[in-house]
Amino acid sequence: MSKVVIAGGGVIGLCSAYYLLKEGHDVTVIDRGDITDGTSFGNAGYVSPSHFIPLATPGIIAKGLRWMLSSSSPFYIKPRLNADLIKWGMNFWKSSNKETVERHIPPMNAILQLSRRLQSEIKEDIGNSFRMEEIGCFMLYKQAATEKHEIEMAEQAAELGIETKILSAAEVQAMEPDVEVNVRGGIIYPIDCHLHPGDFMRSMKNYLHNRGVKFQLNSTITGFEKSGGKISAVVTSQGTIAGDEFILAAGSWMPLITRMLGVELIMQAGKGYSMTFKSMKKNLRYPAILVDDRVAMTPMGADLRMGGTMEISGLDSPMLIKRAQAIFKASRNYYPGLEVNFPSTDQIWSGLRPLSPDGLPYIGRAGKYKNLVIAGGHAMLGLSLAAATGKIAEELIGQRKTSIDISAFDVHRFA
Ligand SMILES: Cc1cc2nc3c(=O)[nH]c(=O)nc-3n(C[C@H](O)[C@H](O)[C@H](O)COP(=O)(O)OP(=O)(O)OC[C@H]3O[C@@H](n4cnc5c(N)ncnc54)[C@H](O)[C@@H]3O)c2cc1C
Repeated sequence: MSKVVIAGGGVIGLCSAYYLLKEGHDVTVIDRGDITDGTSFGNAGYVSPSHFIPLATPGIIAKGLRWMLSSSSPFYIKPRLNADLIKWGMNFWKSSNKETVERHIPPMNAILQLSRRLQSEIKEDIGNSFRMEEIGCFMLYKQAATEKHEIEMAEQAAELGIETKILSAAEVQAMEPDVEVNVRGGIIYPIDCHLHPGDFMRSMKNYLHNRGVKFQLNSTITGFEKSGGKISAVVTSQGTIAGDEFILAAGSWMPLITRMLGVELIMQAGKGYSMTFKSMKKNLRYPAILVDDRVAMTPMGADLRMGGTMEISGLDSPMLIKRAQAIFKASRNYYPGLEVNFPSTDQIWSGLRPLSPDGLPYIGRAGKYKNLVIAGGHAMLGLSLAAATGKIAEELIGQRKTSIDISAFDVHRFA
C-alpha cells in the first residue's frame, strides 16, 4: 500500500481520500484552509447526470457576448489582457462547436452515471447526514424558445437512456403545492439528486478523520521535492510531507500548483454566488434550475439555497452585488410568493468553479512524473463528479483498470 498525499481538501480531494482509504492506503490531505468553507461547501448541491452537455456549446460565445453587456446577466468575463485568460478563451472557442460537443457527451454521460451510482453507495456507507434526497430535479422555463431547447435536450437524454418527464405549468404546480410557481412548463429528470454540500463535506471529513486519514490544515503548498522523474515530497508553509504518490486536487488554484512542477493546465475560475435561507415556513419540495436565468434553487431540508451566475474575473475579484440581486430577482419571478428577503452582503456566499476550456475535467496521470495524478477542472459539476473522480484517482494509484475510459479527460489534451 502507498503513502498518498492529496493536495486540496475540496470535494474532489476528500472523495479521493475516501476511496484510497477503502483500499488501505495511508492518506494525508493538505489544505491551506481548515476545510470549513469554500467552493465545495456553498454550491447548489446537485448531483446531476442530466448535465451531460459541457459548458462550451455552439452559440454560447454569441450568447456570452450579449450577456456581457449587462451587469446582471448570468455570464460575465471581465475583459483584461491576461495571457492565461486569452489561452483559455481560444481553447473555449475551439471547443464550442457541434462536433466537439457531440464527441464529449458519451464520456461525460459515463462519468456522471458512474458518479451518481457511487454517490448513493457513499450515502449507504457513511450514513445520510447530509440531507441527500433522490427525487430528481426540475428544469423550469418561461420562454417558448427555452421550452423548445429543453425538449430537444430531453430527447437527447432519452437517447442516452436518461428518463425525463415533460410537464405543463399545472403539473409543475401540483408537484409544488406549498409555493406558487409561475412558469410556462418544466421537465423533470428523476435520476438527479441533491444534498447539502457543506454537510456532505463535514460528514466526509469526520468519516475520514475517524478512520485514520491525516489532515495537515492551514498549510499552503509552496513547492515540491523531486528526484528521478518522481515527486518525493510536498513543501508546505508548515513543513515537508513525503509520499509515494501525489494527487493534486486544488480546484481553481490548480494551475498555480502545477506550474511549480512545470505542468501547464489551462483553467479559469468561474465565480458563482449563493444565498441560503434558513427554516423556510413554506419551502420548495423539488430542486429546480430556472433555465432562462441560469439560477439553481435547492431545498435542503427546511432551508432553501439559491445560486448562480458565472463570472470569469480571476481568483481575487470583489463581489458584484448586482449579480446576486439578479439571482434573487429570478427566484421571485418564478416563485412569486416565496417568503424571502434579500440578505445582507455578509450573508452572500461566493465560490470559484474550476473551468477547463472544454468543460471536461482533467483526470489522469501527468506525463512528466510517474507518481502524479491530477484531478480537477470539474467546473459546475464538481460535486456531481466527485465520487467517480475519487474512485478513478484511487484506481490510477492502485495501477488498476479504471471503471470507465478516461481518455477524454486527458490532462495534456490542450498541450
Ligand atoms: C454557485 C455555485 C454552484 C454550484 N453548484 C454545483 C452543483 O449543484 N453541483 C455540482 O456538481 N457542482 C456545483 N458547483 C461546482 C462545484 O462546487 C465545484 O466544481 C467543486 O466544489 C470543485 O471542487 P474541488 O475539490 O475541485 O475544488 P475546491 O472545493 O475549490 O477545493 C480546492 C481546495 O484546494 C485548496 N488549495 C488551493 N490552493 C492550495 C495551496 N496552494 N495549498 C494548499 N491547499 C490549496 C483550497 O483551499 C481548497 O480547499 C457549483 C459551484 C458554484 C460556485
